[in-house]
Amino acid sequence: MVSKSVYNLFDTNRQFGKQHECGGLLFVHNNHQDGVVLCLATPPNSKDKSTRYSLDFDHERCRIETKEANENNLRLIGYWHSHPEDIPNLSSQDMQSFHQLIKDNQHELPSPIAIIVGRNLGSEGIRAWLVRGNTRFQAEFQAIRKE
Ligand SMILES: [Zn+2]
Repeated sequence: MVSKSVYNLFDTNRQFGKQHECGGLLFVHNNHQDGVVLCLATPPNSKDKSTRYSLDFDHERCRIETKEANENNLRLIGYWHSHPEDIPNLSSQDMQSFHQLIKDNQHELPSPIAIIVGRNLGSEGIRAWLVRGNTRFQAEFQAIRKE
């Protein structure tokens, strides 16, 4: 489940026309009353390197955002990014990036969440996966109405 504010961030960063890919980090609250709720998604950052078909996050911004979130009892669970496709899919390049992320964070992030924001405005337009080893499990993506 994602909070309304997170959903709105995704919705306003859909990749139309010649726009480059963009994205940010995903955090959950350590003990939210509704269970696992995606509480914070950080916005795209101008220091990230991107093209229409690729995105590399700036390491320093990730470090700072994670540190600040940890201080607020939030935990990193993965990241989101846009794709210039209607119904988004994890690319093999995405899988490589997530394998690297797992390798770099074996204890904190053994199975990260990947959210990809596509262009379709319906329920299929934003999709989520849990990545574990070489497998990806599609997760249900649901916006919660309160907040
Ligand atoms: Zn991608």
